[in-house]
Amino acid sequence: MSRNETSLSPAWSMDTLAIRAGSQRSDFREHSEALFLTSSFVYGSAEEAAACFAGQEQGYIYSRFSNPSVEMFENRLAALEGAERCVATASGMAAILATALALLKSGDEIVSSRSVFGTTHVLFNKYLHKFGVKTHWVDIADLAAWEAAMTPATRLLFLETPSNPLCEIADLQALAALAHRHGAKLVVDNCFCTPILQKPFDWGADIVIHSATKYLDGQGRVLGGAVLGGKQDLDEVYAYLRTCGASLSAFNAWIFLKGMETLGLRMRAHSEHALHLARWLEEQEIVAKVHYAGLPSHPQHALAARQQSAFGGIIGIELKGGQAAAWRCINATRLFSITGNLGDTRSTITHPATTTHGRLSAEEKQAAGITPGLLRLSIGLEDVTDLKSDLAIALKAAAV
Ligand SMILES: *Cc1c(COP(=O)(O)O)cnc(C)c1O
Repeated sequence: MSRNETSLSPAWSMDTLAIRAGSQRSDFREHSEALFLTSSFVYGSAEEAAACFAGQEQGYIYSRFSNPSVEMFENRLAALEGAERCVATASGMAAILATALALLKSGDEIVSSRSVFGTTHVLFNKYLHKFGVKTHWVDIADLAAWEAAMTPATRLLFLETPSNPLCEIADLQALAALAHRHGAKLVVDNCFCTPILQKPFDWGADIVIHSATKYLDGQGRVLGGAVLGGKQDLDEVYAYLRTCGASLSAFNAWIFLKGMETLGLRMRAHSEHALHLARWLEEQEIVAKVHYAGLPSHPQHALAARQQSAFGGIIGIELKGGQAAAWRCINATRLFSITGNLGDTRSTITHPATTTHGRLSAEEKQAAGITPGLLRLSIGLEDVTDLKSDLAIALKAAAV
C-alpha cells in the first residue's frame, strides 16, 4: 500500500479512525481530503473506458454511484461502525427507503418500534404499505410484543435506540437473537448515538442506518445518510441506489468527512452537558418528568449503561401545564434555537406534538407517548452554565 491511502490498524481507537480512516490522496498529495466536484470521470482510451464500465478495471465512472469524496466518507463510517460495507445516501430517509426497497418485496413484513422518527412512520405506513409491505408497530421495550408480532413473513425488525424523543432503550442483543431465530434481520437507526457511543454490530445487528445530517455533520449544514452492513446486503443496497439515484453529493460527503474528525470530542461533550442538565431539570418544580437514560431514575438506565459508552445529547422533558406551558417555555428561551433539527453544536428546542410528530394521528401520538407538554432538547456545545440560565428563565415563564 502506498502512503497515499491510510492503511487501517485494527489497534486504532475510535478517535483515530474518525480522523484517519478512509482517507485517500490524489496525485497532488493534498493533506486534507479533497472535494471531487465532478459528475463523471474520463479515460485515456476507449479500451480503458470499456474495461472500467465492465468492472474489469477499477476506476470511477459517474458520481451517482462512484465518487472519491463519497467513497472516503463511506470507508470512514464503515471503519467506525465495524461494518464490511457502507453505502452513502442523499439523506437519512433515503437510507431507510434504500434498505427497504433493496431487501424487501411485496408480501414481506416489518416489525418496528413505535418510537421511531416521525417520517419513518409515514414511509412505512403510507408508501411501503402501498407496495404490499406491512408494518407491525410495537413498544420498543416490550420483548414479548416484538415476539408476538413476528410472522413467517417478517423480514426486518426496525428500531432507534435511544428513541426520539422519549429516550427509551431497545435491548439490541435480545432483539438480534429474536430476529435471527425467525430468519429476519435487525436494522438499527444509530443516529442518536453514532458509533462513538454505541456499536449495534457488536450486539448482533445486521444493518445500521444513519442520518448523517445530525451528529456526523454536527454543525447543522447538510443532509445525508448511510446504510452499513455485510457485503451481501450492502451489494443489494448499492445496486438499488445506482439504479434509483438518491445518492450522496460529493460536497455533502466532504462536509461529513470534516465533521467526523471531531465526532468523538463532540459526542462526549454533548453527553456530559446533557447529563448535567438532565440532573438539574429533574429537580425543577414545573418539570413532571425527564426522559434521559443517563439518569438512575430511567427505567432502563442499566441496559443503556451496558450498551452505550455515554448517554448522548437528547433529553425529553414533560412540563406540567400541557401545550400552553410547553410553548411558553419555547418562546422564552433566548439561546436555544426553535427548530426541528438536532445533533448540532447549537442547542435546539422542539415541540414534537406540533412539529416532528405533527403528522401522526391523535391515537398514534398517544401510543407513541408524544404528549402535549413534551419538549425535546438537543443539547449543544455552548457553555453549560449559559444553557442552564436560559432554561431556568424559560421554565419560569412556562410556570406562569
Ligand atoms: C433525522 C432523522 C432521520 C431522517 O434523516 P434525514 O437526514 O432528515 O432524512 C432518521 N432517523 C432519525 C433518528 C433521525 O433523527
